[in-house]
Amino acid sequence: MTAQISRAANDSLAPNDLEAWWLPFTANRSFKQRPRMIARAKGMYYYTPEGREVIDGAAGLWCCNAGHNRDEITRAIQAQAEELDYSPAFQFGHAGGFALASRLAQLAPGDLNHVFFCNSGSEAVDTALKVALAYWNARGQGSKTRLIGRERGYHGVGFGGISVGGIVKNRQFFGSLLAGVDHLPHTYNREQQAFSRGEPEWGAHLADELERIVALHDASTIAAVIVEPMAGSTGVLAAPKGYLKRLREICDKHGILLIFDEVITGFGRLGTAFAAERYGVIPDMITFAKGVNSGAVPMGGVLVRQGLYDTFMKGPEHMIELFHGYTYSGHPLACAAALAAQDIYRDEKLFERAKTLEPVWADAIHGLKSLPNVLDIRTIGLVGAIDLASRPDAVGARAFEAMDRGFQEHGIMMRITGDTIALSPPLIVTEEQIGEIVDKLTRVIKAVA
Ligand code: PMP
Repeated sequence: MTAQISRAANDSLAPNDLEAWWLPFTANRSFKQRPRMIARAKGMYYYTPEGREVIDGAAGLWCCNAGHNRDEITRAIQAQAEELDYSPAFQFGHAGGFALASRLAQLAPGDLNHVFFCNSGSEAVDTALKVALAYWNARGQGSKTRLIGRERGYHGVGFGGISVGGIVKNRQFFGSLLAGVDHLPHTYNREQQAFSRGEPEWGAHLADELERIVALHDASTIAAVIVEPMAGSTGVLAAPKGYLKRLREICDKHGILLIFDEVITGFGRLGTAFAAERYGVIPDMITFAKGVNSGAVPMGGVLVRQGLYDTFMKGPEHMIELFHGYTYSGHPLACAAALAAQDIYRDEKLFERAKTLEPVWADAIHGLKSLPNVLDIRTIGLVGAIDLASRPDAVGARAFEAMDRGFQEHGIMMRITGDTIALSPPLIVTEEQIGEIVDKLTRVIKAVA
């Protein structure tokens, strides 16, 4: 029934209907010649308009951690829409927003007790950077304005995010970006870390580069350091053992805030609620999005430590403490979806499940090692990356073909970045479905050899 409705909807698209939508991060001309269309989804699978089943090896874009179209989430969104579709979060509140914030504060480690809501990972990053700057201002240390990111870092596409980010193509076309930003080196070294499982053993010493940056600019000019505990969109580069602890120590020593961008790693991806827990390090802020409501409604946010929040809660009580926010901050539908998703995570123990499945997943993905053109494989939590050798004609061409043929011919959805295939299935994946993912990948990688 659903498939028929979907087919009808798709049939009604005239060829020209594909023209108007300029797809993000997409080769639009090639897409429009050979579109990859999705009509519906359920659990671990997408279905094309023709009714073909495609296993989701990427949890959407690292977001559908509870699987697709969960009835509990759908019902929560419907019920909320009937009750309160929208209410402003500027000077007004609603119960769902407060309930969700309390829930997330309980889930987060340490005293990350307060939540600022926004609508995406990019907004979460810009919010965290602005909170860092405003924090030092509020403490009378307004000279601390410099922001430190990392090479190859991905922090979304806002101007703040691309400034601290370090993926060259995301920066190079967009002018001079934020002033006063510096970058730590990334931590990936194929010779030292090839075919890593979990946190790579090599690379903790690279955190000491922060000392070099502090010596260069002086701590009195530096507001914050932002890092992804596991950099996903740049090819799955997990922080090496000890690296984040070392960063924390150096930040503490010099009075610099530490922000973990957990837009991908939040909500169980590495087998703990947040990667901060897995790495045993408490940052001053955690950015999140995606998995907060399993991707069902746009939502992001920033978890903030008690001390930071308290710094803002001074001055006359009727005064606004932070001049920042979005029309859709804490949108009732996003909050309802998130509360339902958090219930699923808790009731189905999905974070623990990711932890239990990690060795099974790692064995399965590392088993692809001897396939043609495979240069490296990395796994951590329920994440995997396979680096393919570039084709002489173009970097990324082989992975692009793998993604396209994977979807069109082999029934698997994967994410690509450069010549890397990135995998991050919904946390409900079964061992059998891990087998299905690996079988399909094997066929695709052989097909593009
Ligand atoms: N930060 C990180 C670490 C991300 O991986 C992403 C998205 N992949 C973002 C920020 C941006 O999120 P969004 O696309 O929701 O703006």
